[in-house]
Amino acid sequence: MCAAEAALATPMKKIAMLGGTFDPVHHGHLRSAVELREMLALDQVHMIPAQLPPHRDAPGVAALDRLEMLEAGIGDTQGLNADDRELRRSGPSYSVDTLASLRAEFGEQARLVMALGVDAFLKLTEWHEPKRLFELAHLVVIARPGHTATPSPALQALTKGREVGDITSLFATPAGRLLHLRLPSRMDISATELRRRLQAGLSVRYLLPNAVETYIQSRSLYR
Ligand code: ATP
Repeated sequence: MCAAEAALATPMKKIAMLGGTFDPVHHGHLRSAVELREMLALDQVHMIPAQLPPHRDAPGVAALDRLEMLEAGIGDTQGLNADDRELRRSGPSYSVDTLASLRAEFGEQARLVMALGVDAFLKLTEWHEPKRLFELAHLVVIARPGHTATPSPALQALTKGREVGDITSLFATPAGRLLHLRLPSRMDISATELRRRLQAGLSVRYLLPNAVETYIQSRSLYR
């Protein structure tokens, strides 16, 4: 079978990556991942905890605890998975490397999406090789309460000519386009606020899955 025939025989996968520190994972992340999958008709959303996030201070909780909380939070949710590929690499967690590894796994024709909240998107020009991100994937920017999208001139230059207005246009190519998305349930939940509440001995009930709260209590995390 030649390459073109093989491509026709293999159904084109639609895959998203949602990276983060997940320190800890909360319903803002999880509900966004579920709704993203439904809206884009994705096969899988890979939720990928970062080992050493290059853009921020190191998390106070060990990578393996963050991964276990993510696994507990996802539970049996269809189409989401806790992907530990960044934890298996040494050194900083660059998203371009993660996307390159997803691209190698799913092939040239797969529709690959890097999903991120608007707060993260606004800092995109500070990332490692930001131009290359678009060679590897589409970017889907998720609206988040309390964050308005006012891109800097540098970010405007980086994304110039890439923005599309609908999902069909996004998936016309395997990578390279930008879509802003308002998911149905926008949740004003942040890990920073959860850590503050846990530190202060306040309730985090219903902001994150019970299984994650149980894990946090059993390991005395964020005290
Ligand atoms: P922190 O408050 O520690 O910065 P966070 O809650 O923003 O954490 P991260 O792990 O940094 O969580 O986020 C991973 C990704 O999920 C980022 O792209 C972020 O923008 C997005 N995200 C986080 N919280 C939400 C939310 N409530 N709604 C939509 N996207 C979110």
